[in-house]
Amino acid sequence: MSSTWHILGAGSLGSLWACRLARAGKAARLILRDAQRLQAYQQAGGLTLLEQDRASLYAIPAETAESGGPIHRLLVACKAYDAAPAIAALAPRLVAGADLVLLQNGLGSQDEVAERAPLARCVFASSTEGAFREDDWRVRFAGHGFNWLGDPANPTPPPWFTDLGEAGIPAQWTPDILSRLWRKLALNCAINPLTVLHDCQNGGLLGHLDEVEALSTELAALLRHCGQPLAARDLDEEVQRVILATAANYSSMYQDVRAGRRTEVHYLLGHVCRAAARHGMRVPQLEHLHQRLVDNLRARGLPSA
Ligand code: NAP
Repeated sequence: MSSTWHILGAGSLGSLWACRLARAGKAARLILRDAQRLQAYQQAGGLTLLEQDRASLYAIPAETAESGGPIHRLLVACKAYDAAPAIAALAPRLVAGADLVLLQNGLGSQDEVAERAPLARCVFASSTEGAFREDDWRVRFAGHGFNWLGDPANPTPPPWFTDLGEAGIPAQWTPDILSRLWRKLALNCAINPLTVLHDCQNGGLLGHLDEVEALSTELAALLRHCGQPLAARDLDEEVQRVILATAANYSSMYQDVRAGRRTEVHYLLGHVCRAAARHGMRVPQLEHLHQRLVDNLRARGLPSA
């Protein structure tokens, strides 16, 4: 197996991972959207990572999906709605047994990817690190955090996992990664859509705690119903803790909507509502929230799925 890290998507998280891997001497190659993006990247001369007041340029080689060559290990660092089409385009290059590391927020995109790459091993990741693009090919490392990685189908960590520690990427192998992803998804559903609908920072939800509590209760019941009792435990308390601890922050969904960007709603609240329907469970609060959010996004001319 080749030890090269192919990285699909040189956006915020993809660049953050690529620069740290390259800095540690790991072989990394970016896969960019098309020839035009590749040309723009080559003109910039590489990726710039901004950490506090330090800017470092990494001339990481790049290519498009159409370039030849087998892929043994791929970090999928695009948005959830782009993941499956991107993997479909790369499928002919994936060797049997290739490792895919999926950084997407929410749930649902991981299964869509697995369907398009049935011979690959899919490692799911949940990240609390924060990064954003100041400009094309210039990414700011904005918030230190942690990464949990795991494979619901295989509890053994892959041999390349040690690369992460060597590259200074804080990470833990977590066989129960689904529980962690469900918990994060539930927190997101209880907070982010309401910040869009009430047009407020997270702390603004302290004025709408009845609504938050009703959602948390329904989410916890759904998690238990979906076989995720650990993810349901004390959800209500944690939702309130997160609101207080991040009171001055704008949620990622709020920021996307404000910037006129497509949200990942289909893999967040949308996934939760679909899971409830699949289990024949009624979730009127979550359904109502989803409908209000869809109406709000449509009124702004943004995709609602
Ligand atoms: P982002 O900054 O928008 O970057 C996504 C990148 O994917 C873009 O550079 C985009 O290319 C690229 N892309 C999309 N389709 C592609 C394709 N077919 N081929 C090649 N490249 C493609 O997104 P992000 O913030 O890094 O988020 C990635 C995922 O991580 C999301 O699910 C997000 O929720 C999650 N996450 C992000 C953070 C964070 O702090 N940013 C934290 C935790 C979790 P273009 O540049 O050409 O558009």
